[in-house]
Amino acid sequence: MIDLRSDTVTKPTEAMRKAMYNAEVGDDVYKEDPTISKLEKLAAELLGKENALFVTSGTQGNQIAVLTHCVSGNEVLLEKDSHIFYYEGGAISAFTGVQTRTISGVKGAMNPDDVQAAIRGEDIHEPETGLICLENTHNRAGGAIIPVENMQAIFEVATNAHIPIHLDGARLFNAAVAEGKSVKEFTQYTDTVQICLSKGLGAPVGSIIAGSNEFITKARKWRKRLGGGLRQAGVLAAPGIIALTEMVDRLAIDHENAMYLAEGVNNISGLSVINAVDTNIVLVDTTDKGIPSNMYVEKLKEAGILAVSFGPTTVRLTTHFDINREQVNEALTAIQRI
Ligand SMILES: *Cc1c(COP(=O)(O)O)cnc(C)c1O
Repeated sequence: MIDLRSDTVTKPTEAMRKAMYNAEVGDDVYKEDPTISKLEKLAAELLGKENALFVTSGTQGNQIAVLTHCVSGNEVLLEKDSHIFYYEGGAISAFTGVQTRTISGVKGAMNPDDVQAAIRGEDIHEPETGLICLENTHNRAGGAIIPVENMQAIFEVATNAHIPIHLDGARLFNAAVAEGKSVKEFTQYTDTVQICLSKGLGAPVGSIIAGSNEFITKARKWRKRLGGGLRQAGVLAAPGIIALTEMVDRLAIDHENAMYLAEGVNNISGLSVINAVDTNIVLVDTTDKGIPSNMYVEKLKEAGILAVSFGPTTVRLTTHFDINREQVNEALTAIQRI
């Protein structure tokens, strides 16, 4: 099987497994796990924030960020196709008790004027705007890179209104590598950020949230409340350290493979690529094939390719560490045959 469902399917490398075996550990609820501390310090430095916290997943990291920034009854502004709105089971409403106000973006990027217009004023009838969430790269926009200039403009709007910004940076390293920038160039325009270690970076488990010391102290408490206080978690942090130190630059290979895949798909009659393929995600429109995407995904599976349905006539293909150029060619041959 050629598994193009997601970059979450990557298996830990041999170096990661060895690092897990050799990891020095302690009880991290007592802050006594040296490997966790090392990972958190490294991540905080890379992300340009005072402090960082290891969390079990990207979803948990985003949820803790909203819990820490907001109180129940607040309103959160976020893009209409953002992961926090679309794919987290309504958790910010269930846990923090906030309501969401969505803004339609272009390629995942919200217009700063729309954000400004959505911020609530001082009115006894209205909820208070508690948080603005950004997503970079933007998953449902096909791994689209949100330009730094757009983030800066929204940050200025937010700062003037004294509203914090949280960045869902599950795939922020993909954006940074594709643009030849450091992740700090993006995170400077945020108060807090979440990054996934277990997507393109290849670690088996975990995410990082980063922000001020004050934010992380409160976030640590929320993590404990949610049952995310881990004990000898250094075995999970060790591959995370390798993810951040050895796996970042190679994301460029995934991007090249995605672009190559997209060019191949565009040459197959009846299929067309919808997105610009900024990074490692290819969105394929199946309309001209005359069948819904879930049926097309079944046909792909019969031909040995795993993909996900991403809309009634949209299929998502994602390249990652465990997919090489030869497998991309095999996938294209199989798609051609279908
Ligand atoms: C995958 C993803 C998450 C959630 O990460 P999990 O570790 O799967 O919970 C959050 N945001 C975006 C944009 C994602 O792609």
